Amino acid sequence: MAEIVLDHVSKVFADGANAVHEFDLTIGDGEFVILVGPSGCGKSTTLNMIAGLEDISSGELRIDGKRVNEVAPKDRDIAMVFQSYALYPHMTVRENIAFPLTLAKMSKAEIDKKVDDAAKILDVTSYLDRKPANLSGGQRQRVAMGRAIVRSPKAFLMDEPLSNLDAKLRVQMRTEIAQLQQRLGTTTVYVTHDQTEAMTLGDRVVVMRTGLIQQVGEPQELYDRPVNIFVAGFIGSPAMNFVPGRLTADGIDTALGAMRLSEERRATIARNESAQEVVVGIRPEHFEDAALLTDSVRGTGTVFTAEVDVLESMGSDKYAYFTLEGAEVSSAELEELAADSESSIGGPQLIARLSTESAVRQGKPI
Ligand code: ATP
Repeated sequence: MAEIVLDHVSKVFADGANAVHEFDLTIGDGEFVILVGPSGCGKSTTLNMIAGLEDISSGELRIDGKRVNEVAPKDRDIAMVFQSYALYPHMTVRENIAFPLTLAKMSKAEIDKKVDDAAKILDVTSYLDRKPANLSGGQRQRVAMGRAIVRSPKAFLMDEPLSNLDAKLRVQMRTEIAQLQQRLGTTTVYVTHDQTEAMTLGDRVVVMRTGLIQQVGEPQELYDRPVNIFVAGFIGSPAMNFVPGRLTADGIDTALGAMRLSEERRATIARNESAQEVVVGIRPEHFEDAALLTDSVRGTGTVFTAEVDVLESMGSDKYAYFTLEGAEVSSAELEELAADSESSIGGPQLIARLSTESAVRQGKPI
């Protein structure tokens, strides 16, 4: 079992910077957890505290139920994979992968077997005798992974391991890491600022901002039910649109028009919000081309006319951008509209719907 518990863990650096504040999370045995958030939010510091590369200022870190705050990194039985790969340039791939086993003074026969097994899993067998300088970025990353898996640690910690790779390779390696983690079933904590990685890799995602956990949940949960405007805006690409509104007797008035709400939904919002002023969050895919809808479907949303500024087609995904009260709004899935772009520029009719369950909040970010 390799459960990692961060019990109100904080980090205050010598200069007084409070990089991580009361980080409280239990990472289950075999779980794949992603730490995501903008630059400087404390992701790497959190990971480094788990690894033992950074002291913990307050709180307790437990691995398998044992306090490890004071345990040296090498005695935590955790393997770390860095963005820079951290391979030894003078060693061959075989020697690099074998390094932790050599340190542990394992027998040569045992080392050879373990390295060969790891090499097979990661498909690096054919270049075991090469030096890192003679490998591509993707191959180096595989070797770094090999060095991490070879000693079957209790947990993997990965700090932006894919950010030095080009876009195509990143997607490929992302899939490989997901498969590898599933196959080995090793508890993994993975740091990224890339929300696509966050949404596709992890069992659970921790969204951080300025040293504080904003929300912890399964990817879809974060997408459908963000707890605040920051999470709502951070998860999803193109980002969720925010439109100011005012609660009325039966819904919300916005610049797009009046949005009707069920009584239950309105009551929930009224209960949660002290003011009448709210912010409505609408995902790009929750706009539809009104011209394509039946009258009855159209009646369930808020119909408005917008002048499309730009139409963008990225193969299967198409986006229309229009301006609303000076703010750029993006909408997706207007396929017919995009296909007929000549006639649509200059005022296609769009129908807006409230995005599922989400983000009708007061305008104050936490
Ligand atoms: P990035 O995505 O850019 O790597 P991050 O989310 O991993 O960012 P951290 O590297 O954990 O962020 O840094 C969190 C905060 O702590 C930042 O404000 C950073 O400036 C500060 N910080 C990091 N290391 C130190 C240090 N050694 N001394 C003082 N402050 C530090």
